[in-house]
Amino acid sequence: MSRKLEPGRLVVATHNAGKVREMGALLAPFGIETVSAGELGLPEPAETEETFEGNARIKAHAAAKASGLPALSDDSGIEVEALGGKPGVHTADWAETGRGRDFVMAMTRVWRLLEEAEAPEPRRARFVSTLCLAWPDGHDELFRGEVPGRIVWPMRGRAGFGFDPIFLPEGETETFGEMDPERKNAMSHRARAFALLVEACLR
Ligand code: IMP
Repeated sequence: MSRKLEPGRLVVATHNAGKVREMGALLAPFGIETVSAGELGLPEPAETEETFEGNARIKAHAAAKASGLPALSDDSGIEVEALGGKPGVHTADWAETGRGRDFVMAMTRVWRLLEEAEAPEPRRARFVSTLCLAWPDGHDELFRGEVPGRIVWPMRGRAGFGFDPIFLPEGETETFGEMDPERKNAMSHRARAFALLVEACLR
């Protein structure tokens, strides 16, 4: 039996503005008011695990302990089949420049590696999101969502964030970067993990 989340304040355990926006929109209909770890000035813990689940737990527990509120984290990334699942849990790291994140650089790297490997089309990939809902007493609940698709080049669309412009979800004609945000929010890896969270903790 999963622990239920009561209406009230919750910390979104991320400093990523794209995730804050998406998670706030997903939670608002349930009477949950979100405040981000960034707004509370909480430090960003090091993501030292090699799994999405492990890193999601680090972020949610750190924010719940520091704030005394329930906290929700997302650890996510894109796994490219022909690259053996890379960048995976290191998706954000591939964009790191030392002076902020550069996703055009990271997407270009993925595309170059696929070209070098002469990877056949379709260049299958999937977005993965693992959500961890943690309480200040140390309890947590984990949920995983995935969206299968393929890598396309050149980049398409200016909506969304991160790797959205090169990810074409299976059965769709628009990349996540071209899609109306409402539509992406309804079908994304995060939305799928979130639907499991709603079923377990919000009903
Ligand atoms: P982390 O979960 O903070 O380690 O970072 C995950 C990274 O995966 C983000 O910085 C994005 O680059 C990428 N990512 C995760 N979800 C999405 C998405 O919905 N669209 C595009 N990129 C994403």
